[in-house]
Amino acid sequence: MDITLMGTASAASGAGRDNTYLLLQNDTDCTMVDVGGNPLGKLKQLQISSHQVKRVVFTHLHIDHIYGLPSLLWGMWLDQRTEPLDIYCDEEGREWLEQWLDHLKVTQWAIRFEVRVMTYTWEKPSVIAEGKDWTMSVFPSRHSVPTVGVKMVHEGKVMVYSSDTMVNPEIKKISNIDLLIHEATTAHKKLEFHTSLKELAGFYNWSAVERVTLVHMTDNEPYMEVLGQLPEEIHRKITVGQELTTVTL
Ligand SMILES: [Zn+2]
Ligand SMILES: [Zn+2]
Repeated sequence: MDITLMGTASAASGAGRDNTYLLLQNDTDCTMVDVGGNPLGKLKQLQISSHQVKRVVFTHLHIDHIYGLPSLLWGMWLDQRTEPLDIYCDEEGREWLEQWLDHLKVTQWAIRFEVRVMTYTWEKPSVIAEGKDWTMSVFPSRHSVPTVGVKMVHEGKVMVYSSDTMVNPEIKKISNIDLLIHEATTAHKKLEFHTSLKELAGFYNWSAVERVTLVHMTDNEPYMEVLGQLPEEIHRKITVGQELTTVTL
């Protein structure tokens, strides 16, 4: 399974970073986790057809995590898609999402594919999609609105994406994480509803986490300085996420 960082910035975006979203690609299809800027152009850069994107999982409905959806749908229509697209959101957000799709007049583009809104209950962990050799589940984050993190298990390997959150006990209790993609909105400054790199380093159980990639980053934060102050055994496990890089799980 390949995991691509489609964007790595916090809500304010960055000079060289787009808002944070991910593409999870297995042998048969792709899942987009949130949709930030220019999804069509980025899929082209990755040489992935929009047809391969079978589902979109929204971790929450803050603008920086969803605003690329109209463009993605527009591109799927231009590509003459006929396969349904599943969009996952919290059940409380369903009505709002359906209204947004109505306002976009999605059904009036004469699209030939069905947009299916699927819901999860954000407060409790649940499996939302499965394939032959993978299982994707969501679990509650600690953010200012209903928000989930995403866990992907592929052939026994575990990827966890924190989404927007304070340090999260739900992640800490996972016994083995091969790749943790975690938000670090600041380097050491405390910020409500988000995590700093310093907090992240001090909170998680590092014997259970193989490697960490930082996303949801903010320009001009002293990440490298904080990294340099961490014990070597933690520091070596942490990578600063870069745009359009792919990690194989
Ligand atoms: Zn965000
Ligand atoms: Zn948010």
